[in-house]
Amino acid sequence: MTTTLVWFRRDLRLHDNPALSAAAAAGAVLPVYIHAPDEESPWAPGGASRWWLHHSLAALQDQLARHRLPLLIATGTTTLETLRRLIRETGADAVAWNRLYDPAIIERDQQIKRILREEGIGAESHKGALLFEPWEIRKGDGGHYRTFTPFWRSLRRQASPDRPLPVPDMDAPAARPASTALDDLRLLPAIRWDRGFEPVWSPGEAGAWQRLTTFLEARLRGYDDRRDWPSVPGTSGLSPHLHFGEISPRQIWTATRDSPGGDGDDAESFLSEVAWREFGHHLLFHFPGMPDDPIDTRFRAFPWDPDGDTALAAWQAGQTGIPIVDAGMRELWQTGWMHNRLRMVVGSLLTKNLRVPWQRGEAWFWDTLVDADLANNSMGWQWIQGCGADAAPYFRVFNPVRQGERFDPDGAYVRQWVPELETLPAKHIHAPWQAPADVLRDARVTLGVTYPHPIVDLKASRQAALDAYQTIRNAD
Ligand code: FAD
Repeated sequence: MTTTLVWFRRDLRLHDNPALSAAAAAGAVLPVYIHAPDEESPWAPGGASRWWLHHSLAALQDQLARHRLPLLIATGTTTLETLRRLIRETGADAVAWNRLYDPAIIERDQQIKRILREEGIGAESHKGALLFEPWEIRKGDGGHYRTFTPFWRSLRRQASPDRPLPVPDMDAPAARPASTALDDLRLLPAIRWDRGFEPVWSPGEAGAWQRLTTFLEARLRGYDDRRDWPSVPGTSGLSPHLHFGEISPRQIWTATRDSPGGDGDDAESFLSEVAWREFGHHLLFHFPGMPDDPIDTRFRAFPWDPDGDTALAAWQAGQTGIPIVDAGMRELWQTGWMHNRLRMVVGSLLTKNLRVPWQRGEAWFWDTLVDADLANNSMGWQWIQGCGADAAPYFRVFNPVRQGERFDPDGAYVRQWVPELETLPAKHIHAPWQAPADVLRDARVTLGVTYPHPIVDLKASRQAALDAYQTIRNAD
């Protein structure tokens, strides 16, 4: 009987797992997770991602145990060497996995596939992370898309994604090499900054389904209106589950279409957001330098503020003195997630008003987001900086006070995350520096003592950013 090592990576689920289903159809399966963060360098998972990974692997272990299968956790000098060792120890004939699209991973996986096949081992990769491969959606002239709207139209013209696969019947092989203990991977932080994560998240396939079900039952209706409001639970919260492949976009697509209202405008709006994730992967595949290098290369010469370190530290700590920004940064630190509207607002302040390079914001998000994803994060930062393929124009500098007044009009979001401003009236909560002295006194706010003065003058820094942009605007 054929034995296949099913190499789990960011596809930590049993339903709709094409590699697992193909392996199970061929014979016995041995699920394997290989820990090799150095091979993803410089984008090895950050602290919040490691926290998620630990709990997601634990959940997968439990799920597999219910099917009387172990999850073999292995480490080694390289993934190739580890796979070779496991093949020797188990007599496996084949390895199967679902494809990922981070440039370093593509390169490694292609090499592994070639070498294993040369050595007479079956090596097959499958499509499990996306609705469509980055090379399946093409412009009429065969090229790839740079802007979202035509990409989305083209995606909608494709045949609907196939129905998701069920959990296959799985046979275990006789040989079971020893496994590394999950705790020995040391994914959890030594200093417990993760306590705020536990009440918010349930990593694993069951947690993903719980999120999707709650979203479809309670939030799909009205999604298009509510998705921009940070103080209401208007979005799905599925991003970390999608990143770790605990649920597939095909499952989300099908469940959304099958739900009441699945053909309405809210469903269309939600699925278009899922398509932004596809677009991020499309861009990363076609612009593999996207995480480090601006797609609009004029921005390589952008005059950043040479004294940006202090500003960066205040931004990271949620101490800029601009309430909506501080609320977003503190939500990120405490929960590992930040609302999309806030990601744009804090990104604009950092890269435009403070003129700190977008790569430094990207790196902070990489370390602190539970959904940190190379494709979506780098696309998001290039978008907000204005240097990406389909980016906001540079001169669109978000005014955080206006953004707060518009999307958090009663200040509920700021009050939740910046309790030192809790009793300021809504009228002043987004710009306490403009509040009359008696209002501040009544709210027990002393600027510079209980809450910082704004780190930057929003109007002057906006103008400085636009002036800086002029210096690169006409370059090649
Ligand atoms: P929902 O509104 O419920 O959307 C459903 C799914 O669609 C999400 O789970 C996500 O997979 C996808 N999606 C939604 N919006 C976007 C978007 N703008 N771009 C790409 N995919 C999207 N998303 C990440 O998953 N990882 C990141 O590292 C990341 N970094 C970002 C950095 C910046 C500067 C910006 C502006 C955005 C970033 N995003 C990132 C996109 C977006 O903010 C999150 O996907 C979204 O907030 C996740 O919340 P949700 O699951 O409730 O979204």
